[in-house]
Amino acid sequence: MSKGAPKSAQPRRYRLIRGQRDILPPETDLWVSVEDAAHRLFRSFGFGEIRLPIIETAELFEKSAGTDSDVGGKELYYWVDSPRANKAIKSVRWKAKMTAAKVSQPDSPAKSELLRAADAGDFDTLTEADRVALRPEATASVCRAYIQHEMHQPPQPVRLYYMGPMFRRDRPQKGRYRQFYQIGAEVIEPPKPGGYGWMEDAATDAEVIEMLTTFFKNVGLSETTLYINSIGDKECRPQYIERLRNQLSKIKDKLGPDSQRRIQTNPLRVLDSKNEEEQKIIETLPRMSEHLCEPCRDHYKALKRNLDQRGVTYQENWRLVRGLDYYMRTTFEITAKGLGSQDAVCGGGRYDGLVEMMGGPKGTKGIGFAIGEDRLILSLQESGKSRSDARPSVYIVWMGEGARAEALSTASNLRNAGIRVELPGVEQKVGKAIGQADKLGIKFAVILGENEISTGVYTVKTLSTGTQDTVRKSDLIGYLNQQYV
Ligand code: AMP
Repeated sequence: MSKGAPKSAQPRRYRLIRGQRDILPPETDLWVSVEDAAHRLFRSFGFGEIRLPIIETAELFEKSAGTDSDVGGKELYYWVDSPRANKAIKSVRWKAKMTAAKVSQPDSPAKSELLRAADAGDFDTLTEADRVALRPEATASVCRAYIQHEMHQPPQPVRLYYMGPMFRRDRPQKGRYRQFYQIGAEVIEPPKPGGYGWMEDAATDAEVIEMLTTFFKNVGLSETTLYINSIGDKECRPQYIERLRNQLSKIKDKLGPDSQRRIQTNPLRVLDSKNEEEQKIIETLPRMSEHLCEPCRDHYKALKRNLDQRGVTYQENWRLVRGLDYYMRTTFEITAKGLGSQDAVCGGGRYDGLVEMMGGPKGTKGIGFAIGEDRLILSLQESGKSRSDARPSVYIVWMGEGARAEALSTASNLRNAGIRVELPGVEQKVGKAIGQADKLGIKFAVILGENEISTGVYTVKTLSTGTQDTVRKSDLIGYLNQQYV
């Protein structure tokens, strides 16, 4: 393009859209090692990986999270996904139909969006299934898959884990992204006719938490705090919520607009509030722990006993709640250092009513967690534990056309042993090659000249120290692994 070309004729430079980011190497090495650690550990606890679609019906998330919640409401990315929608932008017949029956949630943002779309077109043939969303979390999808694939057939419980991107139209800031990654696990079990299922007991809750804390230990995240709580069940929670609502109504004027609204819609969520001015007042509110029914109190005691037996340390936090009806009893959260206000790296809990609410077998129980992988990585980086190259790396310096074949076979042997190898395509001077290896952050240079090839003894230089050793060809892999710490 000539210098004087008008701006409009210059090729456009595309940029990331707001709230999105690229994750580049070498940082991605750290992501891979964290994911590898999850695969290894979760499988050792009997979990199998489930790979889920990123797009599901919008209704799945609206129903499971509730349209009053952030993830099932204003933060949900959804759209009408049908070629028919484009063809039929002509009449408003669909509007009446939609208003009458199709959108089950009254006055949801989703509904008004659809009605607006209907104003502009004829969506006569569209159904709720044509409205799709990017998943904001994966528990709803796991439950949908559990039901769809009839996983309630024995053996039970079903233990599944997943990892991948989630999407929420949130306000971007450090540790809060619009596309972020979660690593999660779920245990699901239908009721045993006449029997006592695994999940009746708090041992399952404790085992899931033990797996989680072991995972954080394995990836090197040490300064974490585990918080636990019990939020009761459908027997004892409604009375508690009424007491809480009464109390909140009395002090309504001292609360911010969000909390004021939640007194009616979801008073438990007031306990979640991060609003500075409300903190003192919240401390004076009635606590769920004083209102647990006997089975819930026993379950909570058993959870703590089981955690103690496993050597898992925790703190109780009565304000740790999940504001949806199907959540029951155990809730937990893990926070980590170095993350500022967004310090939760994991949230989880029991959701004994969810599978049933989504049309699965009555009485099915579930428990799970989701780790925020982005925040986990941030915290590892902040604590300086971000060494990503857990394997040695080698730069092969070869001299003379006769050494090329030897260099190729050496590279192939080392790579087969899992060692990273940089093999220059052209011959280089030793000084220049070492300089380049240094720049690439490579640990060792293996030097192959005529002499090395004829004797079968290679020269290996450790770049960080400058020390040089001679190593027999057959001992090379052992030497590299041993030297690398
Ligand atoms: P939740 O599904 O809201 O319980 O979140 C589980 C975990 O996912 C949180 O503890 C965070 O670590 C992480 N997380 C949630 N939302 C975001 C986001 N917008 N950006 C980055 N991480 C997130």
